[in-house]
Amino acid sequence: MPELPEVETVRRGLAAQVIGRRIRSVEVGRERTVRRTSRQALIDGLTGATIVAADRRGKYLVCPLDTGEALMVHLRMSGRLLVAAAGTARPLHTHVVLHLAGRPAQELWFVDPRTFGEMVVFDPEQVAEQIPELARLGPDPIADDLTRAVFAGLLRRHRQLKPLLLDQHVIAGVGNIYADESLHRARLRPDRLADTLTTREVGRLHESVLGVLREAVEAGGSTLADTQYVDIEGQGGWFQVHHRVYDRAGQRCLTCGRADIVRVVTGGRSTHFCPRCQR
Ligand SMILES: [Zn+2]
Repeated sequence: MPELPEVETVRRGLAAQVIGRRIRSVEVGRERTVRRTSRQALIDGLTGATIVAADRRGKYLVCPLDTGEALMVHLRMSGRLLVAAAGTARPLHTHVVLHLAGRPAQELWFVDPRTFGEMVVFDPEQVAEQIPELARLGPDPIADDLTRAVFAGLLRRHRQLKPLLLDQHVIAGVGNIYADESLHRARLRPDRLADTLTTREVGRLHESVLGVLREAVEAGGSTLADTQYVDIEGQGGWFQVHHRVYDRAGQRCLTCGRADIVRVVTGGRSTHFCPRCQR
């Protein structure tokens, strides 16, 4: 699933290519993509509107429109936003097409093989009613100023670190890859209880989360063999070559060189860590 670095890379692509563009017309194929409202609501909300900004909160893309409303896009498991020249042959599973006015004649596609992703036009003043989970997101480590003091406050809970980092209401944008990589860099076991961390360990985890996410954004995110993630021009990221634990079960730890990476599955999610350097 695209996480903060991948969604931020898509956001930067949208900022560079679609801000200021008017949406001339809209096609919606698969209704599941617009399930929060309806096909007609998306068409009515976008037709004739101009995209004025490209923002992100956690894994949510939010594009304010000149109508006062905003377009929210969530990629979920396999969603992709792609910009292409008008008339280009569309890939399979292209569920929504925005025809952009002006030159060059372009289309913005929402392609989503697994159909968990979604698009919706909403009123930002009604976000708590219209997209409640967006209103309840925790701080975003890149978009917000997530200071060490704020971070320490978030960890003051009797919960294991891995599920805590994945909880979007605690911190927005961290998913499985970057939780595992951050915990490894901080030398903390995924099942450590957050309220047992020393001040020094809290500082290490804070630096690790911010550092891993920033480096991954600069690398354009991670594109894994089994994922569909690409940026809006169809290019993959390369942070996966820097992964030290994620998807490396059974391989030697790159940090200590003296233990093999372990993979455990809890609640349907896999967790990767080094039993030697993470305590
Ligand atoms: Zn190790």
